[in-house]
Amino acid sequence: MSAALALAATALDVLVMTQLHPRAAQIDGPRHVRVAVDTLRAPLQLPDAEWRVRVGRETRTWRGALRIAPGADELAIIVRMPIEEYVARAVAAETEPGAPPALLEAQAIVSRSYALAARGRHGAADACDLAHCQALRESPSHEHRANSRAAADRTAGQVLVLADGRVARTPFHAACGGSTADPRAIFGRDDVSGAAAVPDPGCSAPGWEARLPRDVVERAAIEALGSRGPLSYERAADGRVVRVLDERTGRWANGDAFARALDRLAGWGVVRGSRMWLDPAGAFVRIRGTGIGHGAGLCQAGALRRARQGQSVQEILSHYFPNARWGRVEHRSP
Ligand SMILES: [Zn+2]
Ligand SMILES: [Zn+2]
Repeated sequence: MSAALALAATALDVLVMTQLHPRAAQIDGPRHVRVAVDTLRAPLQLPDAEWRVRVGRETRTWRGALRIAPGADELAIIVRMPIEEYVARAVAAETEPGAPPALLEAQAIVSRSYALAARGRHGAADACDLAHCQALRESPSHEHRANSRAAADRTAGQVLVLADGRVARTPFHAACGGSTADPRAIFGRDDVSGAAAVPDPGCSAPGWEARLPRDVVERAAIEALGSRGPLSYERAADGRVVRVLDERTGRWANGDAFARALDRLAGWGVVRGSRMWLDPAGAFVRIRGTGIGHGAGLCQAGALRRARQGQSVQEILSHYFPNARWGRVEHRSP
């Protein structure tokens, strides 16, 4: 890995608290404002500061400029967050208290690279605060939040880059189960991650199993595809589902998008990974899987084990991202 240079934005517009479908919000900080979807006529803009935003019984603290826009039946709350603030929050949310510094640094570089490379997934916003982009749930441990922020600071501006100089869209997952997945098989396109299928000895992920009604599985496929023609599944040599196809239009969705749609319709935490096998069983479909998450890129369980064994952040990242180089972004002024 060698140095490279790229320019990147200095802040990300993050759409937050969407899972609460906010119709009203109480905002406290340098100003105190109550907004509701029924009465807000034009977007409300609040300056860069620390804001506490309460929606129903949930309160979250955000650092950045706030923009609250009225939608059809809910508010869009967008925080313009400095990129390193975003990275510090993502690291705290994606790792556990007590994790060694090398793991926190590896997560910081991966979270930063992914966020910069995957910007603009939400129209007016660059990212959301859910696992769809990167979860920004607040860690209850003050010490863990401080350690995560320190790891973001120590690695400020560091990213992984592809051979052509673009920032790598570096995926990560909870546990691979012994070897990571080929990113092309999971995301179904030319690789932009810098990752490759690599062995991860000692990484045992529990197998999981779910049973869902046939119509739920069909709905998930339609949702992942965005169309409703006759469906078929494309399987890998080992039988797992890698794509779902609309036979009429030729449209397809990758296994990861399908697994996420399944998990959402099942109520989250049920379809736990993308490496899955589907077997019809009457009115139900039996789904078996190995590994937690999509299995591509950084394996968080494996990286934790490596950090505990004394591996450096460079050793950890070059293992999971053999096709990426080390790089640094210069944050551009807005
Ligand atoms: Zn998102
Ligand atoms: Zn692993």
